[in-house]
Amino acid sequence: MKDKCKKYETLFTFADEETLNEHLAICEDCREEQAKMDRVSELISEVKPFYKKKKSAFNHLKVACILFALVIGGASIGVVGKNQDLTDYIRYGETLSAEDLGFPVDSYGFLLVE
Ligand SMILES: [Zn+2]
Repeated sequence: MKDKCKKYETLFTFADEETLNEHLAICEDCREEQAKMDRVSELISEVKPFYKKKKSAFNHLKVACILFALVIGGASIGVVGKNQDLTDYIRYGETLSAEDLGFPVDSYGFLLVE
């Protein structure tokens, strides 16, 4: 009994289709391998719709997570945004007075109205 031809994998991976087919025409072992591969790709195309479905369910989950994060994040930004002192404190580390904001102020820190 002669050794099984081991060229199929190499040809399948590295050679072009023409070279592979030429070899398949003269090699029984590789035709068997080819048949196996055909069955595998059939199987894959059978499973694909299920896989896609699963994937899109996963995407829905991702979208749900992002929306959830946006809602939570948006809510906390809303709270901070409404409180100017808190926003200043977060941004600058201290509460800004009218003077810090560049408005003309009197010695008490009140806005100067001319
Ligand atoms: Zn072969």
